[in-house]
Amino acid sequence: MNNQRETAARAQALGDMSAQEFRRFGHELIDWIANYFEHIEDLPVLAQVEPGELKAQLPSTPPGHGESMETILADVDRLIVPALTHWSHPSFFAYFATSTSAPGIFGELLSAAFDVKSMLWRTSPASTELEEVTLDWLRQMLGLDQGMSGFIYDTASVSSMHAIAAAREGVEMRIREEGMSGRKDLPLLRVYASEQAHSSIDKGIITLGLGQRSLRKIPADDQFRMNTKALADAIDEDKRNGILPFCVVATVGTTSTSSIDPVPAIVEICEPHAMWLHVDAAYGGSAAIVPEMRHILDGCDRADSLVLNPHKWLFTPFDCSVLYCRHMDLLRRAFSLVPEYLRTPEQEKVRSGSDYGVQLGRRFRALKLWMIIRYFGHQGLVARIREHCRLAQLFASWVQESPQWKLMAPTPFALVCFRACPTIEGESTEGRKQRLDALNEAIMHAVNATGKAFLSHTKLNDQLTLRLSIGNIRTTEKHVKQVWDLLNQQLEQHT
Ligand SMILES: *Cc1c(COP(=O)(O)O)cnc(C)c1O
Repeated sequence: MNNQRETAARAQALGDMSAQEFRRFGHELIDWIANYFEHIEDLPVLAQVEPGELKAQLPSTPPGHGESMETILADVDRLIVPALTHWSHPSFFAYFATSTSAPGIFGELLSAAFDVKSMLWRTSPASTELEEVTLDWLRQMLGLDQGMSGFIYDTASVSSMHAIAAAREGVEMRIREEGMSGRKDLPLLRVYASEQAHSSIDKGIITLGLGQRSLRKIPADDQFRMNTKALADAIDEDKRNGILPFCVVATVGTTSTSSIDPVPAIVEICEPHAMWLHVDAAYGGSAAIVPEMRHILDGCDRADSLVLNPHKWLFTPFDCSVLYCRHMDLLRRAFSLVPEYLRTPEQEKVRSGSDYGVQLGRRFRALKLWMIIRYFGHQGLVARIREHCRLAQLFASWVQESPQWKLMAPTPFALVCFRACPTIEGESTEGRKQRLDALNEAIMHAVNATGKAFLSHTKLNDQLTLRLSIGNIRTTEKHVKQVWDLLNQQLEQHT
């Protein structure tokens, strides 16, 4: 079609894209996505662009008149794809590997079409009720008890912040009404988490106005699990000093090593002090749907809240984080605020999403999770997570069998922490440490620069450690073998 004529027609038209055009580009885009997945392995995992490169290629002012979908989509190919780090690539092993899935993408598509704001039952009966039912299915799959009610937030950071807010509401110090500043009647409120806890706990505490000094970090043992003796001692010491302990955050699957805090022992410490126990299982929690791994949530039946992220290891497109909470009443007390224009006759009988958090409108996220659970079924999801754990054990066994490499932490899930450690005769301890840190960092950057795999790192006992996380729905043994070969090639080249 004549481009000028099309532009002129669009400039005069009101309303959305025509149904005919929508169909055409909708079909094209689905084809585009199918191709993307079919050929994703040909793309570099890590974006091979320099900072600022994309910005320099984009116009600095918005288009005055509409452009054709062809032009826009051509720019997706030309500009956007090269600037992507491909999280859906089967050789993405960095951070926690995650992935979307086809039923999840369809769920997102429908949810964007419905564009529901799930704040009241009335504005979103389907979203409200589907969320309750889907999260109860997930609760059963995880083996959590019926006292746990589920609620969806965007991220684990936000879920944990809400859990700590509910715990604080339970302190009965009128903090909702009076706040925390300018008060002499308020002792320091204390939250405990291990030194391996995720930074989102610190951020939640900062956001809630508790202040960083409210968070006491408890040392971890040699396997990176919270030292419960140190926790009990810290609580006793704080109480003697007039501090009010009110919450412990335990982690099932820490970010550095996926270690599991001893929740059963932590529960025993929390209960006599009537402290809220929040479990951060953002990554590891999903594994509990596998019967032989259910034990990872041992003790969580007595926790007050638990977060897990379907967007991490349940093949759900970002974002979708689930908070299970035993005291929805406290969460509601902390956040419910119903102005006149939001009052409805049915409000006493139904759940209103906006009562349980800072957001008013909420996305219809339950739809994609419901579609994923139905499409794969409990058994299908189990098989995929089980396979990821098998691949991680396989990789860990290669590391263990090689004199050149060393495992740096246990592998309870599908994350392997390891590093190269070739020896040199007569080297000092400090010299060795510095050499190995530099070597491992160089190997990681060299592997990532190939575009064939993407790994990340952490520091364990002050030693630079490589992390290989398996969690992508497309990752197979072939990819794991490939990255092992790449690592060994780079080790050879760097020694
Ligand atoms: C990933 C992760 C988080 C943060 O998750 P978001 O959903 O990105 O906020 C928090 N805690 C743990 C243990 C995690 O692994």
